[in-house]
Amino acid sequence: MADFEDEWLEHEQSQQAQAPAPITYNNTRIYRPSQNRGRGDGGHSNEGNWRARGNSAGGDFSNTRRDFPRRDNRNKKTMFVPSKKIGRIIGKGGSKIRELESESQAKIQIGDSSGDETELSLFGSDEAITKVEEMLNDLLQDYKPPPKDSHNESTDSGRTNEFFKTNESGVQVIDWDKLNSYHDQHQKARWESLPPIVKDFYKEDPEVAAMSPSSVARWRLANNDIQVKRTFDDKPGLRPIPNPIKTFEQAFKHYPEILDEIYKQGFANPSPIQCQAWPILLRGEDLIGIAQTGTGKTLAFLLPALIHIEGQVIPREEREGPTVLIMAPTRELALQIDKEVSKYQYRGIKSVCLYGGGDRKEQINIVSKGVDIVIATPGRLNDLVMAKHLSIINFSYIVLDEADRMLDMGFEPQIRKSLFDVRPDRQTVMTSATWPPGVRRLASSYMKDPIQVNVGSLDLAAVHTVTQKIIFVQEDDKENVLLEFIQNMDSNDKVIIFCGKKATATHISTELALKGIECQSLHGDRDQCDREEALADMMDGNVNILVATDVASRGIDIKDLTHVINFDFPMHIEEYVHRVGRTGRAGRTGTALSFIARNDWAHAKDLIKILEEANQEVPDELESMAERFKAMKLRREKEGGGRGGRGGRGRRDRY
Ligand code: AMP
Repeated sequence: MADFEDEWLEHEQSQQAQAPAPITYNNTRIYRPSQNRGRGDGGHSNEGNWRARGNSAGGDFSNTRRDFPRRDNRNKKTMFVPSKKIGRIIGKGGSKIRELESESQAKIQIGDSSGDETELSLFGSDEAITKVEEMLNDLLQDYKPPPKDSHNESTDSGRTNEFFKTNESGVQVIDWDKLNSYHDQHQKARWESLPPIVKDFYKEDPEVAAMSPSSVARWRLANNDIQVKRTFDDKPGLRPIPNPIKTFEQAFKHYPEILDEIYKQGFANPSPIQCQAWPILLRGEDLIGIAQTGTGKTLAFLLPALIHIEGQVIPREEREGPTVLIMAPTRELALQIDKEVSKYQYRGIKSVCLYGGGDRKEQINIVSKGVDIVIATPGRLNDLVMAKHLSIINFSYIVLDEADRMLDMGFEPQIRKSLFDVRPDRQTVMTSATWPPGVRRLASSYMKDPIQVNVGSLDLAAVHTVTQKIIFVQEDDKENVLLEFIQNMDSNDKVIIFCGKKATATHISTELALKGIECQSLHGDRDQCDREEALADMMDGNVNILVATDVASRGIDIKDLTHVINFDFPMHIEEYVHRVGRTGRAGRTGTALSFIARNDWAHAKDLIKILEEANQEVPDELESMAERFKAMKLRREKEGGGRGGRGGRGRRDRY
């Protein structure tokens, strides 16, 4: 998904990072203007001079516009880097090199590749060159062979030969069994040297303990029909699932400082997932929460995490690394969790948010000063762990937030890699909006007898508080209809306009701006800081219109959003539910308007189901669209075409 480009980049980077390669530098500083114009630019254009063109590793990004700092020709420094790592320096669409240049105020010119190495020319003031060198060193640092005391020491410390064997054909091959067994033993010894994890902090309130099974069942039914069970076999010896608490005091009366923090937020009652999750988590059990953003799930795993951090044997300041890890699929969600975490002050516990696209150096800085909670996207987490900026030895409470989405985005290898080295006796929490086989697999590999709490979909419940209207339009007429809506907006109205493509979002926001209508846009082509600013502008009410792609469809919590407009209908109906759930939150009502053009007919059937479920009016036109689509599919099947909804042009024209 291109909307998550930086994460993908991080993903690729840490894949590459597995192959250590030496870096060589040539520290010659030449105090004269560069004679070496960029390859292929003819030396005429200034901008071309700083462009890297068609180099073997990075691909051609000559069309990428970079807003270069002013060129300072006085200093040039040359540096050689492994050619196969040039892609890492360039970044997707030139994003990394742009970031390096804008942060350092130096210019980087990628020169000729002489086989394994490529020449980089760095231009700028002394200060800028030093800064960009540091940044490049940081960027490439994880290619250094790991230090001797790392868990990879077996392959680096002269023991290498032990892990080879001769196969039947007389060829030397790696003895994986031996290597794996050595690794397992080594890990075990490492973990055994750590003190046991303290997990049980729960003292059940007598009123909660006295609930009868039938009153528990009634409570669960009345609270979103919450379902609670052991996910896998309910083995003998496992404790019964704890009863739900009903008040904040029943969960935290032994932790008055935590209670004070909750009171400060002014919440009336715990949410259903909190009622059921707190007793489970405070008791130290693994938990799977099938719940979406908006259910109060963050606080459900956060408050027990704070108590867990404080309750360990080794005092916080003496621990080698942070204690709690919260992994989230996107930077927006990571930042949102970070914001939520920062609302609760407990005994000076510190957190950091690590995400691709954020200032890596600053993130490293914060980590090195000591933090207790790490909130991270998978790519940046692996990046910093592999570069040895972050120690995972003390992680004893792990949260995989929105696990299904992380898997959808292809982060499974990253998650597995991160969890591989975390001590296995940790407490693990997973949240997911859905329960597909991939998430189940992850749970069975990495969780211990988890208890599963299904809260149903509160976003679906939110859909019940949203008036959903369908507007049938011609594709060409969408912009006019949108404009008419905007011109009739009240001063209190706040709207997200969802577009199917980044280009459409850019186009719409530009058109609105040209018409003098203030708006913001949020999509994957925007820089991280612009994306953050766009959200902040919406939240603070500086603008009332946000034009976005599905990067904003989940999780984003803009409390007073009154309208969602589906300018383009989403590819999947789940996304419709998520988009619509951005409004009608926290007991408010909202309106969703969906523009339906005739080529959206494949979605009609699913949309009808949602509308019916939420007691909304189903327009006749939508019903007949669904019927026509069904008939077309049947016809196709009879004809043996099996091409589903994608008919030939003539057929579509007839429709
Ligand atoms: P989450 O599902 O974690 O994204 O939470 C969504 C919003 O609900 C956040 O703004 C929380 O501050 C808020 N929230 C969390 N717990 C409660 C509660 N018990 N009552 C009301 N709001 C809550």
